[in-house]
Amino acid sequence: MTFAQTARDWLSGFADEMAARLREAVGIESPSDDPASLHRFADWLLEEGRAVPGADAALLPDPAGPAVRIALPGEGRPVLVLAHFDTVWPLGTLARRPVRLEDGRLFGPGAYDMKAGLVQALYALRALAELRADGRGDAPRPPVTLLATSDEEVGSHRSRRLIEEEARRSRAVLVAEPAVGPEGRLKIWRKGVGGFLVRVRGRAAHAGGDHELGRNAIEELARHVIALQALTDYARGTTVNVGVVRGGTRSNVVPDFAEAEVDFRVASPEEGERLVSRVRGLAPTAEGFTLEVTGGLNRPPLEERMTRPLFALAVEVGAELGLALAGEGSGGGSDGNFTAALGVPTLDGLGAVGDGAHADHEHVALAAMPERAALLAGLVVRIGERLA
Ligand SMILES: [Zn+2]
Repeated sequence: MTFAQTARDWLSGFADEMAARLREAVGIESPSDDPASLHRFADWLLEEGRAVPGADAALLPDPAGPAVRIALPGEGRPVLVLAHFDTVWPLGTLARRPVRLEDGRLFGPGAYDMKAGLVQALYALRALAELRADGRGDAPRPPVTLLATSDEEVGSHRSRRLIEEEARRSRAVLVAEPAVGPEGRLKIWRKGVGGFLVRVRGRAAHAGGDHELGRNAIEELARHVIALQALTDYARGTTVNVGVVRGGTRSNVVPDFAEAEVDFRVASPEEGERLVSRVRGLAPTAEGFTLEVTGGLNRPPLEERMTRPLFALAVEVGAELGLALAGEGSGGGSDGNFTAALGVPTLDGLGAVGDGAHADHEHVALAAMPERAALLAGLVVRIGERLA
């Protein structure tokens, strides 16, 4: 038996316990912008981390939202497992949409993205700790660090440095974000993600008496909106979306101010640079206007060349568990984008099987939890054998 198989057999005895932990985790609401809730969740996670034999669990405090680091000792350079416990759901969502079970699926806000992945990672750590401790594991393994942050859904601005610091010391990064589809496909590339705020200033005037003296900022912004949208290039995998526009005060005033919030996605770092320089180079199209562009690339692309070696190992370990693992790409970013950009091999989508991230039908396939935890644990051991 391989370690993954041993772990699966052992973890299958914890299926009910894992489901109960997930229920608890979903029961502690944790929106990205509510520090008190995030701290409550971090306390829960810290307790769970302390229950892992031999692990060192620490709270990394931050008034705006803490992180939790759970480290299991081992040999050589560590494997970093990344998770986040913030969700996109505001407080009160749980009252409106309580946890429910249906056909072996657990529905609840934040269950799939990504509290189930976090619970699976905790149990993977337990398997790595216990099976080694009682001699049933058959391989030495690297140290494992589980880093769980609380601002992923809002761009990881606070935690980015922490994530990068841990990644630089690690031989590989495994991201416990949700897998894709009922077969639980892994994420082998992700687009880079960025945004801009484009602000136009013109000149206010009475819309009746002095129309010709005004400089209509909305009109000027509209021209730039058209230009921005036109930067979309599906063939290159580039999308630009003007998602929010604001401007003006009332209909009888020529508006002196308008602004647009823009999201963009790119498949390669080069395309990111090209797009950023194009947008930063936008200039007023007529006299009397000023234009200010802020923002840029937030998450660099997670390129397939960075995931390939780990994906091959995951397919191997998956086969030992009877799983035919496939990979696919995603237009959304994750913290794996940061770590891959540092040159650290990274694989994403190693979390929950289910569906409905950021949607009302969000749910997790409970039966897959022990198996996916075993996949993660087995992958750690395999990385220890193959990847120095
Ligand atoms: Zn997520």
